[in-house]
Amino acid sequence: MQNNKVKNVVIVGGGTAGWITASLLVKVLGKAINITLVESSKIGTIGVGEATIPPIIPFNSALGINENDFLKATKGTIKLGIQFENWGKVGDRYMHAFGDIGKNFPFCEFHHFWVKSLQIGLNSNFWDYSLNYQAAKQNKFQHINGIKGTNLPGIQYAYHFDASLYAKYLSQFAQNQGVKLIDGIVQKVNLNEQNGFVESIKLENGKVINGDLFVDCTGLKSLLIEQTLNTGFDDWSHWLPCNRAVAVQTESIGNIRPYTRSIAHQAGWQWQIPLQHRIGNGLVYSAKHLTDDAATDQLLSSVEGEPIGEPRVIPYRTGMRRKHWNRNVVAIGLSAGFFEPLESTNIHLIQTGATRLLKLFPHNGFNLSEVAEYNSQTNTEYQRIRDFIILHYKLTERNDSEFWRQCQQMDIPESLESKMKLFKETGKVFREQDELFTEVAWKQVMIGQGATPKDYHPLVNTLSEEQIQELMQNLRTIINRTVDAMPTHESFLGI
Ligand SMILES: Cc1cc2nc3c(=O)[nH]c(=O)nc-3n(C[C@H](O)[C@H](O)[C@H](O)COP(=O)(O)OP(=O)(O)OC[C@H]3O[C@@H](n4cnc5c(N)ncnc54)[C@H](O)[C@@H]3O)c2cc1C
Repeated sequence: MQNNKVKNVVIVGGGTAGWITASLLVKVLGKAINITLVESSKIGTIGVGEATIPPIIPFNSALGINENDFLKATKGTIKLGIQFENWGKVGDRYMHAFGDIGKNFPFCEFHHFWVKSLQIGLNSNFWDYSLNYQAAKQNKFQHINGIKGTNLPGIQYAYHFDASLYAKYLSQFAQNQGVKLIDGIVQKVNLNEQNGFVESIKLENGKVINGDLFVDCTGLKSLLIEQTLNTGFDDWSHWLPCNRAVAVQTESIGNIRPYTRSIAHQAGWQWQIPLQHRIGNGLVYSAKHLTDDAATDQLLSSVEGEPIGEPRVIPYRTGMRRKHWNRNVVAIGLSAGFFEPLESTNIHLIQTGATRLLKLFPHNGFNLSEVAEYNSQTNTEYQRIRDFIILHYKLTERNDSEFWRQCQQMDIPESLESKMKLFKETGKVFREQDELFTEVAWKQVMIGQGATPKDYHPLVNTLSEEQIQELMQNLRTIINRTVDAMPTHESFLGI
């Protein structure tokens, strides 16, 4: 325990991580602490990270952000899910649609009824019962909390946005509330000789900035947490085989789809993120299986509109810091770790990292129990998400390339192995602790990639075959009627 009160917070880095952290801290603790953010316009930001997941909605609300202003300022669009193509087998297609599917019964979720319906010969698709999926495929969107006159769930959504406009938006938001911005390059990090804590940072122009707590948001550089404190890194490349991406923006063509596309190729996958004014594209790949030149050619030959600017290669390493909070440094964003872009989890992890820091804020000095709690919660969160992402690579029948054969054969964490086995054999799946991905997310990826359960819950047998047939038909009718009445995505956006 260190008894010095924490009054001066220095955030190093002004990418998405730096500005999200600054925005939340200043919104809640702005009267109690001073916040300085140092960024370098010469270095810039990583410039990718344009797809999000539904928890961004309550996070933005907590900041008091107005959705219309936000979508306008970031050229944002609605995201109802991610369409996965060619993952289970070449030619396959399914969606990880947000929100619930069908109607859950007490003690027995909807998919058990759906599995029984297949076994009695009703040949429907699991996503026929997803309001999000049906709306996505018809390019529709509307805020719906629950389907009127029923107890069926409504729409859950997230955003796609322009990463540079997003950072700009939050930068303005945080500065308006009192965050002090300094543009400069950090040249040296000074440590206290007695306790090894970071005391100050020195900029290229000689200016020294002192602080009590430092937040490392320097991206893949990890200037404080790793380059200075040598915290260590758990490498997950044996489970997450992709380690590079090449990104290019293209002009918009056709309708603006309210979902992300994730299209598997021989050595990884390709993203397509539709914004109001352009499309973000990128090819994620394993450097062991594809060269940068081949990846760039492949990306350029498969994008839909005319490229805007030159493609950019981004190398990365998958894994996480051994400690996210070390001494008086907390790493948030890419400096803390990275899985890969699949399932768009990194901006979410920035938001949970900043929220956790706020909840465990060391206002009366550094308490080892608080630090340990922060690290333990963060580790669990990362490991659960890691398993969900590995699932996409492991659960494939593709054997058309060395890359996919290796994915099929790789050893996976025990926690994931048992989850997959339980679902395949019994249809049962459970969300662990506070893990990010819900049962319905796990189900969609497993069913979508060919692991339809062999069995269902015995409660299903309390309905006759005719009742099951009627249940399925009614659900489809209600969902289709609801989607028919929804406005288009473009009309919701007002473009
Ligand atoms: C290919 C790819 C695709 C991705 N797609 C998604 C996605 O769709 N959804 C999602 O949620 N996440 C995605 N991510 C992750 C997402 O991009 C990041 O989590 C997010 O952009 C946060 O980055 P950051 O702020 O940590 O780092 P950066 O954007 O790199 O910012 C680092 C900051 O530190 C500053 N800095 C660095 N060194 C110094 C120095 N010496 N002195 C002063 N300042 C310095 C820089 O100027 C910059 O301001 C993706 C990542 C990659 C690599």
